[in-house]
Amino acid sequence: MRGIAVLGATGSIGTQTLDAVRTCLPHFRVKALTGYANVDLLAQLVKEFSPEIVWVPEEKIEPLRVLLANFSCEIVTGEEGLHTCATLEGVDIVVNALVGRAGLAPTLAAIHAGKHVALANKESLVTAGGLIMPLAREKGVRITPIDSEHSAIWQCLAGNENNAVEKIILTASGGPFRTWERSQISVATASHALKHPNWNMGAKITIDSATLMNKGLEYIEALWLFDLSPAQIEIVVHPQSIVHSMVQFADGSIMAQLGLPDMRLPILYALTAPARVFNTFPRLNLLAHPTLTFEPPDQERFPCLALAKRAFEMGGTAPAVLNYANELAVARFLRGAISFYDISAIIGQALDAYTVKPLSCAEDIWEAEAWVYERLKD
Ligand code: NDP
Ligand code: MG
Repeated sequence: MRGIAVLGATGSIGTQTLDAVRTCLPHFRVKALTGYANVDLLAQLVKEFSPEIVWVPEEKIEPLRVLLANFSCEIVTGEEGLHTCATLEGVDIVVNALVGRAGLAPTLAAIHAGKHVALANKESLVTAGGLIMPLAREKGVRITPIDSEHSAIWQCLAGNENNAVEKIILTASGGPFRTWERSQISVATASHALKHPNWNMGAKITIDSATLMNKGLEYIEALWLFDLSPAQIEIVVHPQSIVHSMVQFADGSIMAQLGLPDMRLPILYALTAPARVFNTFPRLNLLAHPTLTFEPPDQERFPCLALAKRAFEMGGTAPAVLNYANELAVARFLRGAISFYDISAIIGQALDAYTVKPLSCAEDIWEAEAWVYERLKD
């Protein structure tokens, strides 16, 4: 039996992780869960999975205590409490399904503690890939990707360790504005942007998909995870979200991984690889998807893609600035305080004004984020 901690258990990836875990019981034992605002759901999950500890922000301790009256489970909070969840004895796998910058410290803590990390929180690798990958190697820790594109690439690479990769082909759905004119996109509201054509995800990543920043973040995530150079990554828009990504090898042959847009599949594989576990999730019927199309991304209508590439090229702490400026801008857009193209403008201006620092420890990232916060706080 393997002990598992699910950070961000109440979110889109968190709840689907627990669905995947249900299919593998009794091989997994959930030992720690974390939530944030949704304490009702968290309390239900605690009652179902009986973890040893549960984390909530300080203001939610009392409401959770009330919901868990007569139920024995330690409630922890603060940075220290999150650290405890990520490093708990008896936990073998930490699923990091936190959203945004909150995910980095637990990723680093879990690796330091020698835990296998199943990583959904792409922002960890975007901001700190240069710290995470060497640390994971030093500690002999597995980082298994949950992001469907990276899971697809990882699956295509399996068994090909000695074969040179020419390039990887990252697929993107294109988001809800794929076919919209720039003039229409410029007046799009959060409710338009939240209507993703294929995936049902948390609000932040859904907006990132609409701006294509999600693909920019995934580009950086892939560079670190698979130790590639920028020239080895091609991004193609594939509106059906059936081909999750591809790898082209030295002989020109391309391998692809296909599946329905259902995150439970890559989540399950991240937990059980190299084993493939039977489940009752819906199967892809290719006859129901006879048309699979591919087109180039439009970087003029979706400037965030180029911003992510630029931040990676700038190096050091620049991706942390990109990431946090994006996070704050997306929060503003979701509140209706700025327009769609203000998101890319805010990020671009932050990168223009920033003097890059080398990245040698997590504090360099906190410092870069503090610079962004000072610049963009409301
Ligand atoms: P959600 O917003 O659905 O869930 C985020 C989780 O983190 C929730 O449990 C939420 O709690 C909690 N949370 C929110 N803010 C904080 C905070 N400041 N501190 C601690 N916990 C917090 O996000 P998703 O599940 O969509 O995404 C999670 C990560 O996975 C992201 O990095 C995303 O990019 C990545 N990802 C997601 C995919 C998807 O299909 N959703 C696909 C590929 C990658 P609560 O809900 O209780 O407020
Ligand atoms: Mg993805």
